[in-house]
Amino acid sequence: MKRILFILTLFITFTLSFVSGAFAENEGIFKITSASYDTSNSLIALTSSYLGEMPEIGKIKIVKLSNPTRAYFDLPGTILSIPRKDWRFAYGDIKQIKITQFSTNPDVVRVVIYYDDDFDISSMQFLKVQNNIIIKLKNVVAQNPFMQNTYRDDHASSSDFYEYMTVSAAVDKNDPLSQINEAFNSQSFLKQELKLNTKFYVDRISAKNGAVLISGMGSVGIEKPMILTNPTRIIFDLPNTLVNQNLRNKEYSLGGSDKFKIGQFSVNKARVVITTPDVTKYIPIYSKDNQGLLIGNTEKISYDMIPYSDGIINGYSNYKIDEQSSAMTLNFNTALIHGFDRTNTQVIVYMYNISDFDKENFTKTFTGTPFEKSEITVQPKGLKLTIPIEYGSLVTAFTGADGKSLKIQVKAPKVQEKETPAVTAPVITKPSEISGKHKVVVDAGHGGSDVGATRNGAHEKFITLDVAKRVEKLLKEQGYDVLMTRTGDTYVSLQDRVQMSEDYEPDIFVSIHVNSSTSDSSKGVETHYYHQESIPLAQAVHASLASSIDSPNRGLFKSKFYVINHTTDPAILVEIGFISNTSERAALLSDSRKQATAKAIVEGINNYFKNSK
Ligand SMILES: [Zn+2]
Repeated sequence: MKRILFILTLFITFTLSFVSGAFAENEGIFKITSASYDTSNSLIALTSSYLGEMPEIGKIKIVKLSNPTRAYFDLPGTILSIPRKDWRFAYGDIKQIKITQFSTNPDVVRVVIYYDDDFDISSMQFLKVQNNIIIKLKNVVAQNPFMQNTYRDDHASSSDFYEYMTVSAAVDKNDPLSQINEAFNSQSFLKQELKLNTKFYVDRISAKNGAVLISGMGSVGIEKPMILTNPTRIIFDLPNTLVNQNLRNKEYSLGGSDKFKIGQFSVNKARVVITTPDVTKYIPIYSKDNQGLLIGNTEKISYDMIPYSDGIINGYSNYKIDEQSSAMTLNFNTALIHGFDRTNTQVIVYMYNISDFDKENFTKTFTGTPFEKSEITVQPKGLKLTIPIEYGSLVTAFTGADGKSLKIQVKAPKVQEKETPAVTAPVITKPSEISGKHKVVVDAGHGGSDVGATRNGAHEKFITLDVAKRVEKLLKEQGYDVLMTRTGDTYVSLQDRVQMSEDYEPDIFVSIHVNSSTSDSSKGVETHYYHQESIPLAQAVHASLASSIDSPNRGLFKSKFYVINHTTDPAILVEIGFISNTSERAALLSDSRKQATAKAIVEGINNYFKNSK
């Protein structure tokens, strides 16, 4: 609980109500709540959820021993609140690292490192980073080797930790803390390369007028926000984030009509939804230790709550990564508190606790680079960095482990980018391989007075309902929870379909429709998505559909259909064939085609969940 003291100084008005809880037990004890090893940078990160007394790292003594060659050091006043660590490495000059509770009275944690003769133990360094102890085993990179990803445009999950977030059967699934502990304590590094990445566990929400403070353990990052309409809302996804179950899906008022909600969007992603007419005014502001994220309306929050304003920028660098990508790095004499805003043509960084910089040096460093047109201006509170970017660029931001550096990477758009994602071949998955109970909304298009497309006495609304019911039956047989937006020949408005889905909070939304065309010859199957997160689902279902239905593959489309645009979960709309084509219409009315279509959709759904694990 002591960690709150830090945030208290940062956002004092937000946390006043929690002061009573801030002085908990464990006074003077450094309690390690996670331990990670980053093989690429040879770093050990010991994290505490308490900002109490930390061991004085300057006084840590390294003791060298031989047979086998090893060294150890002790951390006094420290408790290991996670199981002991025993990391073994198949290659490299470091062979093994052990972290154990050496004694309990007094509390001492001992770290033992086994290595071969090539390794120089005297190059080991200790770094105190807020409530983390970072141990650099090697002096690999001179400056800021440990960068935490704080922002990314890319919604791709390639840098996410699916493998570590997998919850084993032994863990009590209802206890999020045991889930995150399990994730941190994965023993799988024996088999694979272990990388230290961003991980965040949200355990506190504090909502006030015009802002919400999301805080927890680990290191927070966000993806490019999305703006949705009706009602107008802005969505921030937090990758590699687990939300305390007690905080999920509750609505908090942010004053006026503004509302805040956080949910567990997928196994390792949290979703923040702020409903407000001022969508573009809300920006994320990162705390010094990167364990708190304030999402605030820039016109409503008071900057008096950020007390520091004495910092300076004392380093500027530009790195060309490849033909398309470059990075700007700024270094500071203090840990940075910054706000991040990204529009189609600019990246804006508000450096709230930084008051001075060397203009000449800044200009000189970035002249002739993609950051040439960037500028820093002095604000009433701090500095503002503006980086013009090309439309369609991919922006990624990082902060150093000590908070004293900021890296902004910009990848220029490719000259020719293919719009439609490639359809991948389906992987057959047995239903038994799918764990956990997934919730699916099945939306039969049209109904009642809205008949949909018609031809020769055939009505779209009957075909979609028939197929939807088959999908429902198959999904339930395989253990899914299913919500049908309609089960009979009734009219349901598009708004109601979306609302039903939002209330149900499904994993996915699948809408079933039948196509029609003025050209009699058109036939084939199509899958539509709108939001980028829906692409994996669209790919999985379409691949299954296209490979098992005897009808041309017309491909994937990004389309702004109401139901897939307005639902906030991964959502697709499948067009299962053309009612306007004589032979396809006959097929669509047959039991065999309806059943094959339903089966293909369900197989696609199975593959989607299999792959997204
Ligand atoms: Zn339709």
